[in-house]
Formats: sequence, C-alpha cells, structure tokens
Amino acid sequence: MEFSSKLLERAVNEMSQLPGIGKRTALRLVLHLLGQPESQSLELADALKTLRSEINFCKKCHNISDHAICEICSNPHRTEEIICVVEDIRDVMAIENTSSFRGLYHVLGGKISPMDGIGPNDLNIESLVEKVKAGNVKELIFALGSTMEGDTTNFYIYRQIQDYDVVTSTIARGISVGNELEYTDEITLGRSIINRIPFVASLKS
Ligand SMILES: [Zn+2]
Repeated sequence: MEFSSKLLERAVNEMSQLPGIGKRTALRLVLHLLGQPESQSLELADALKTLRSEINFCKKCHNISDHAICEICSNPHRTEEIICVVEDIRDVMAIENTSSFRGLYHVLGGKISPMDGIGPNDLNIESLVEKVKAGNVKELIFALGSTMEGDTTNFYIYRQIQDYDVVTSTIARGISVGNELEYTDEITLGRSIINRIPFVASLKS
C-alpha cells in the first residue's frame, strides 16, 4: 500500500496492529477519524493513554478495576466462600450478566499453554492457592472452558488444593465463556453455573 503521507501511513500501520484489522480496514478507520471533529480523535487517544497509565488490577481477584479492591470483591452481599476461577475479565462480565452467581471471582490472566510458553508461574495461581490455604473458601468453581489448555489449568490447580478442605466443581462441559460466549446465551450459562458438577466427575467423562 503506497501512501502519499507519512503521517497517514504511521496511523494506518499502528491501527493495523490490532487483531482482525487489516491495512484496508485500518485506512478506512483512520480516514473516518479524519472526517470527524478533531475532538473525537483526541478523546480516543486520551482514553487509550489514560487506560494504560492508570489501569489497576484488584488486589484480591486480579480483575481490571479502577480501585485497589474491585466492586465485586468489596460488595458485602457477596459470599467469599465460593470462588469462580476464570481466565479474564470477559468471563467475569459474561457470568455477571447471568445474575446467577453471588460469590467472588479469581482471574488467572490466561491458561497454562506450553505451546505459547505460558506456565503456572505466569498466571495468578499462587494467590488462589493461598486463598484456599487460608481456609475461608468452601468451593472453587472452574469456569475456564473445555479446551486442552483449560483442562490442563483446571487440573494443575486441582492438584495444588486437593488436600485442603474445599469442594471443587466445574460448569457443564461444552460451555465456554468470554471469548466464545457467542456460542451460548446468558440463560444457558447461568443454568450451567447453578447446575455445576463435581470437578472429579468431569474428569471421568
Ligand atoms: Zn476483586
């Protein structure tokens, strides 16, 4: 793609770094922004800049939060005894939309994936094990989806905590949340949380 302007080329190149955005789409978006009032581009740039400089992760659950402790963890009406283990904020949002869960979350920040060089130490697993060891947690719900990486991660965590007095369960097989939510709906997802099955039973199926 030949550009008559270095400024335009730079903006298009940056935009096309985003997933699913090719050069043509990037050019269309950049030209769209140029056609809008200047304030819109500045708002977008400022939102991204502020997001990066001020982003905060909840000290308890590691979810993205504007405060040291997120609104879910600081809600006195939610029980600390049940923790739902998820990959990222998209899963938290999907499950919150079902209004079927009144416990807390633990956001791992990914899944164990040797192919991608992601090991247990790259994820928020140790802090989860510490929570279980502290003794206030009665149940862990694994909600990582049923990919190989999800299974590996569930099983790794299970092995760390199986000697402690905590129940482990998993949402129904075949339900993936977050990224793959388009394949399910809120009612199905909500039902699978309510009708969760013992984790050990899921290993045999
Ligand atoms: Zn939190």
